[in-house]
Amino acid sequence: MAQTASLIAERMNRIKPSPSSAASARVRELQAQGRDIVGLTTGEPDFPTPDHIKQAAIRALETDQTRYTNPDGTVELKTAVQGKFKRENGLDYALDQIIVSAGSKQSLFNALLATIEDGDEVIIPAPFWVSYIDMVLLAGGRPVVLSCLEEHGFKLQAEQLERALTPRTKWVMFCSPNNPSGATYTATEMKELARVLLPHPKIHVISDDIYEHLIYDGRTFATMAQVEPALYERTLTVNGVSKAYSMTGWRLGYAGGPRELIRNMAKLQSQSTTNPSSISQFAAIAALDGPQEFIAERCRAFQHRRDVVVGLLNRIPGISCRTPEGAFYVFPSCAGLMGRRTPAGDTLKNDRDVILYFLDEAGVGVLQGDVYGMSPYFRISTASDLPMLEEGCRRIALAVDRLSS
Ligand code: PLP
Repeated sequence: MAQTASLIAERMNRIKPSPSSAASARVRELQAQGRDIVGLTTGEPDFPTPDHIKQAAIRALETDQTRYTNPDGTVELKTAVQGKFKRENGLDYALDQIIVSAGSKQSLFNALLATIEDGDEVIIPAPFWVSYIDMVLLAGGRPVVLSCLEEHGFKLQAEQLERALTPRTKWVMFCSPNNPSGATYTATEMKELARVLLPHPKIHVISDDIYEHLIYDGRTFATMAQVEPALYERTLTVNGVSKAYSMTGWRLGYAGGPRELIRNMAKLQSQSTTNPSSISQFAAIAALDGPQEFIAERCRAFQHRRDVVVGLLNRIPGISCRTPEGAFYVFPSCAGLMGRRTPAGDTLKNDRDVILYFLDEAGVGVLQGDVYGMSPYFRISTASDLPMLEEGCRRIALAVDRLSS
């Protein structure tokens, strides 16, 4: 026991395993035990990777493209990324301003580890993607969490941002469309936040655009460096192929940003994982340069599922669900269930109690809001087919019905 304690570095005490991966693993474990569980925890599209992308990977194998590449990605893929940034976001990045990583998660990790000194502050609007906090903590930084209330559409307000800035603020992290709330900033809202940052040249911005293409009701996507060109020099624009192209397992993401930052992110990557898989890089070229129409089709399917799920949840007394503008999650409030009693006699005191009750009593796996920094809420992933989502909502309704006041 004592030996184990001394083997493991202190920094490992600052972080926890990804709760969403742990919850998905728990759902799979219960299913393997034969339990009938509707798992609505996963953050990945249920659609397959399109054929033309798979074919590109097969061609890469057949032509022996199986060796190390440049640590920051092949010139061919970086050129495709450059084209994507220009075409879709109006952003000009030279090739040495682009890095390709094993998932956008690695780009984010590289950026934070390459820049944060002990005690540096990173502003993270809540609800947030769980990994931001742990990455900042691992790097020795201090996450400064700003709660974005439901009455503000789960969006950060300019005054709130202004009040949180200190001489130690190093980064402000934005994620739009947001995981888990689906909140999506308009260009005007983003510009208002940018206005707060303009007078502070030492503060940098991470724009996590991974859900760019999952945006509903005809809205237009906005990203910080495009909306406020004066922030281009201090913005890292992060994206990847995981969500839009159903390529989560391929582990391929990328970022564009200031040259010196990208150079240092590449240096770090060269001493950790070297390059992302050569095969995945070939596949990603096909994704970015190939047909894009299927994305809009899939997006329509996600929008329909969102509408069905929000409608079903809002019929359940004690649950209220805002309609998200993007991403494939809904983030309902379970405030109305607090204090209710389960058939076993337990009182629901927080969102963790609620999700455990749903899992044990109703066989539905969802995630509690507190892991995303906001309670009492829970997250349902709509990246499952409609019958499964309907069944999940039906079971939640039955479970709520069994509660006594
Ligand atoms: N950013 C957000 C907000 C996410 O939800 C995820 C994955 O769930 C990622 C980044 C990481 O995606 P990947 O590493 O697959 O590109």
